[in-house]
Amino acid sequence: MAKKLIAGNWKMFKNVGETVAFLKAVHERKAEFEAAELAVFAQAPLLPVIQAEWVKWAGKEGVATWFSWGPQNIYWEDKGAFTGELAPGLAREFGSTFALAGHSERRQFFGETNESAARRAVAAHANGMKAIFCVGEQLADRDGGRTNDVLREQLAALFKICDKAHCGFSIAYEPVWAIGTGRTATSAQAQEAHAFIRAELVKAWGDGEAAKVRLLYGGSVKPDNAKELLSQKDVDGVLVGGASLEAASFLAIAAAGQNAT
Ligand code: PEP
Repeated sequence: MAKKLIAGNWKMFKNVGETVAFLKAVHERKAEFEAAELAVFAQAPLLPVIQAEWVKWAGKEGVATWFSWGPQNIYWEDKGAFTGELAPGLAREFGSTFALAGHSERRQFFGETNESAARRAVAAHANGMKAIFCVGEQLADRDGGRTNDVLREQLAALFKICDKAHCGFSIAYEPVWAIGTGRTATSAQAQEAHAFIRAELVKAWGDGEAAKVRLLYGGSVKPDNAKELLSQKDVDGVLVGGASLEAASFLAIAAAGQNAT
């Protein structure tokens, strides 16, 4: 059975001291989690901090094995006059092996579109990182029965510029009404959306490519609901916001992932 990916989105939280303390706590429980796949998404200035600390704890050979990290956003050009953006190559230089693309908070507050999110995802792979392309509907869309239409449109932007699954590609289904609200999608709702996404991937890229893509669920995942969500057939991992900030709850979710069948 493939490992579940347990990814934490730290958003605009954590300073250097809190980051170091988190990494220490994770590394102390290494024996329990070395067989897991964990990742955190941090503010850009924390990437070199994570890299330096993790090399210290795990040694160079331990980097990019069971614990990985990456930026919450990257730009799609390699370099240039793009004030305020993050060059993908620079994120990679600091040991990032994953990158988020199109998180709903980027869409809501910073004008991210389906097209720009797709470009960021493709740029991650061009720079040696695995993208997690985020999709998800608003509450009004769900209530209006438009969930699948929204997901189809979001994915179409990706399919337009990407004709196959890049190595390690993931899609995070994050219903906007479940992010940071404490209101989780039921495991049945998550599975239904994931099955729809998988079917769209099959239509666009074919069975073999679609099977390579990991589908993560995000939206108020907590230690007490993680196991049930992660036990769904098409839920290959989770993207966790609030509950990823404390090492204890993040690791409790990781433990649930290891026990999910
Ligand atoms: C997220 O930030 O992607 C997220 C799902 O947040 P939360 O777990 O807090 O809902």
